[in-house]
Amino acid sequence: MPAPANDYTAPLDRPSEATLQIFWREKADTRAVSFLRRPGAGEGPIRPVIEARPGVQPYKHNHYFDQEFYRLDPAKGTLHNPYGQRMMRVGEDFMVAMLGALEDEVGQSGAREIMYKCGYQWGLHDMRAFLGRMQAEFEADLARMRVDFLMESWWWPLTIEGWGTWRYDFRQRDKGLLFVELYESAVAQSLGDIGAVVCYFYAGLFASVFSVLSRRSLGCVEMQCYATGEDHCRFVISDSERVDAAAFWRSEGATAKDIIKKLSSI
Ligand SMILES: [Zn+2]
Repeated sequence: MPAPANDYTAPLDRPSEATLQIFWREKADTRAVSFLRRPGAGEGPIRPVIEARPGVQPYKHNHYFDQEFYRLDPAKGTLHNPYGQRMMRVGEDFMVAMLGALEDEVGQSGAREIMYKCGYQWGLHDMRAFLGRMQAEFEADLARMRVDFLMESWWWPLTIEGWGTWRYDFRQRDKGLLFVELYESAVAQSLGDIGAVVCYFYAGLFASVFSVLSRRSLGCVEMQCYATGEDHCRFVISDSERVDAAAFWRSEGATAKDIIKKLSSI
């Protein structure tokens, strides 16, 4: 029997498959793209597939630049993105202070776990908003949208927000292994080369986003990090057993290359 959708006893970072299905029932959220709608363009019907429309597009798809993306209201002292979400601009000092304070409070392993779980919840909330927004912006159902199209559209706001750039690798998905390369991690670049992987926010984020997309519960572990002297960070996303194995091998000093090789041969 499937677990109930509102299974509040499930671990925060391991929702049931029934819970993950809920995201796919999100309907088009036209309010979330009202800032992107061109003047005079009406709300079109939601079609099964994205249709090419000649001429001026009803929504501004290319809105990933400062003037369009950051909406400052100096009178209220607020900043929003074009989807109506409140934002805050912070510097590297903020990131270092926040992570340092967390570690002082709960210790290193507690801080890592909290960051991972925060990232995980962030991803779930972000996917819920994103899936509703995508259907409205492209006036089409989710069912027939390509995964790579969804992925790139999801990441673009994070790029302009300063979370870095990424490349994903699904070539071993038949083996249940997904890989992500992350460049210019906001966390690792703030902390610098401290000799330990630090991108737990991102690991949680990738775990939940790919769990929603694949509709099964996945975990994620960072295999190498900018903060260990590499030029970019690498993550593996898979089931919890293999993620735990990868974390163990990393703790034993295995490189990303070694870990991938071991995981591929399981
Ligand atoms: Zn990293």
